[in-house]
Amino acid sequence: MTEHVVRLVWDAWRTRKSGVGAIAQRQRARLADMVAHARASSPYYRELYGDLPDRVENPRQLPVTDKKMLMERFDEWCTDRAVTLKAAEALVDDPNRIGEWFLGKYTVMTTSGTTGRRGIFVVDDRTMAVVTAMMLRWIGDWLSAGDVLKVTARRGRMAMVMATGGHFASAVAAARLKKRRGKRVEVLSAHMPMAELVARLNRFQPALLAPYASMAAMLADEQEADRLDIHPVLLALSAEGLPQQEYARIARVFNAKVGNSYAASECMFMSAMCGEGWLHVNADWVAFEPVDADYRPVPPGEQSHTVLISNLANRVQPILRYDLGDSVLQRPDPCPCGNPLPAIRVHGRSADVLTFRMAGGEVRLPPLALSQAIESVRGVTLFQIAQSEPDGLELRLQIAPGANADTVWREAEAGLRKVLAEHGLEHVAIKRGGEAPEQGRGGKFREVIPLAPGGGSSIDEGKDSEEER
Ligand SMILES: [Zn+2]
Repeated sequence: MTEHVVRLVWDAWRTRKSGVGAIAQRQRARLADMVAHARASSPYYRELYGDLPDRVENPRQLPVTDKKMLMERFDEWCTDRAVTLKAAEALVDDPNRIGEWFLGKYTVMTTSGTTGRRGIFVVDDRTMAVVTAMMLRWIGDWLSAGDVLKVTARRGRMAMVMATGGHFASAVAAARLKKRRGKRVEVLSAHMPMAELVARLNRFQPALLAPYASMAAMLADEQEADRLDIHPVLLALSAEGLPQQEYARIARVFNAKVGNSYAASECMFMSAMCGEGWLHVNADWVAFEPVDADYRPVPPGEQSHTVLISNLANRVQPILRYDLGDSVLQRPDPCPCGNPLPAIRVHGRSADVLTFRMAGGEVRLPPLALSQAIESVRGVTLFQIAQSEPDGLELRLQIAPGANADTVWREAEAGLRKVLAEHGLEHVAIKRGGEAPEQGRGGKFREVIPLAPGGGSSIDEGKDSEEER
């Protein structure tokens, strides 16, 4: 079952070096394998694929799936009959069990949402090995021999700044790393007040810094103001997109290389950014189809409506031709960096930093700090947090049919209050929104909406995402 990481790394390098043909060949073979496995071991896929030919090498032959469809039939979707929604929920609803092995062999994580609906993802060892292989292929591209020496000199100290307290992919990965590498890994909460975060980073002096993107921009402000004084070799950003010029600013401020990756709990090894600012999709392990609203292919050079992904590594919970909901643009020509893997830009996961006034200045809050406070509340199926005025948030919830609405509202508000208080924002009012969460004109759903420049928060944000990434 467990594929050896060294073999995967070797295969990853060889495939990339051999170019487009080898990448496509790996993808076809792995897709055929995964479809056959899903049909043999998942009752859900056996039914869904009843009419398909015996061997499927092209994802376009498959029907589309999404989170809602799969979550509704969780037990039948999984290929291991011991994996049940009940058992997985018992683990993810317990904050003390982050990073714990599930059934002795799986990793479980929840979506760090872009859709407002909680997904629970069970991942096998093979997937974790592919994650490592893809990460090494990426770091190998980024770091020169001199950089590697610098990292080694600092004993590979790595600091991760993320939302803690939930079973999100990054938190689960951090918990595992911390267990293995102990003092050389520092996991810091993005909920921590900035002054404390700065002090902890100054003490730790990381060689590698892995914050989510909006947090990196805020740390760059601190470094520019001379309060933060760290010298990482590489910043590996995640989770959100930033305006393109922000990457250059962060690189300049820290005098470091800045890389971003774009991934999801559904496919943790999806892509990573090159020196030219393009995200290269690891197409040997994920089939990636930019499509329009009717799921027809969108040619390179045109913005897609959404993207369908097939994860070719995870056998316990096959994700096949799955609507991820992000709008992407694929580069029509070869990327100048020389990487033959498809190059994309992503619109849709944007860093909607909220700014609040305070005596003596401003406080900026990354969107994930707020959204993750709500995501961990049971009984919420969809939510939206809108900054309705300079000192006020409006919370909109869609509550699961069986849940006690009063309890859900109370827990959600308490979660938000806690995050606000941690940042000295006790004065910010939280209002219960009368309406259900709204979608923007482009059909894109945003969980956190900052105050629009004119005053009220803007739901119709179809175009401001244009400037992200
Ligand atoms: Zn490139």
